[in-house]
Amino acid sequence: MFPVKENLRRVLDSLPEGVRLVAISKYHPAEYIMAAYDEGQRVFGESHEQELRQKHEQLPKDIEWHFIGHLQTNKVKYIVPYITMIQSVDSLKLLREIEKQAEKSGRVVKVLLELHIAEEATKYGLTPDALRQLLSDGKWRQMSHVRICGLMMMASNVDDEQQIASEFETGRRLFDEVKQQFFASDDAFCERSWGMSADFPIAVTHGSTMVRIGTDIFGPRVY
Ligand SMILES: *Cc1c(COP(=O)(O)O)cnc(C)c1O
Repeated sequence: MFPVKENLRRVLDSLPEGVRLVAISKYHPAEYIMAAYDEGQRVFGESHEQELRQKHEQLPKDIEWHFIGHLQTNKVKYIVPYITMIQSVDSLKLLREIEKQAEKSGRVVKVLLELHIAEEATKYGLTPDALRQLLSDGKWRQMSHVRICGLMMMASNVDDEQQIASEFETGRRLFDEVKQQFFASDDAFCERSWGMSADFPIAVTHGSTMVRIGTDIFGPRVY
């Protein structure tokens, strides 16, 4: 097995205080997750509904699952009964469906709004203007079964560290802007989920409160 425990320790030791780790376990087997679990890790992230469902059924119930992938509205009902946080909300439509299903389940689901700042055309997420629009439109204020806890973003997949840093700074400025405008008195709005294996050391010096790391812990994914 890939040295999951050693890698997890190394990653955790390198994170400054106040930055939480979401261990991204997509495409990795349950035994890898259990290796990290045995070291004390409880927060894991997955990006496919079916894979998540199987792992949730199979693995300890005190795991906090975060959903980080593109989520179709017709899949929301399957994950809402147990998911802790959906990090990849990028439309009002999706937010409404989460609200509806969470109400049915009698739960409050934490969500992050996913930003699109990177240059890649294929990535999901809200542009800065779409984010402002979604929030100023105000419909989210009536949703008592979703709690908006912050923003999530991916930086461009490039070698240029300046560019990556400047994208995270754009994320941080947007966070500050919307925090002040819409969430000034809401302590729950506090998370900046940025940083993956390739760029988390940059992310933590540019405002990250939560890193999402897969490969550095579990090794390369086998698709
Ligand atoms: C897969 C994935 C990650 C983890 O990527 P690694 O490079 O393996 O650390 C983080 N965030 C999102 C949204 C992902 O899809």
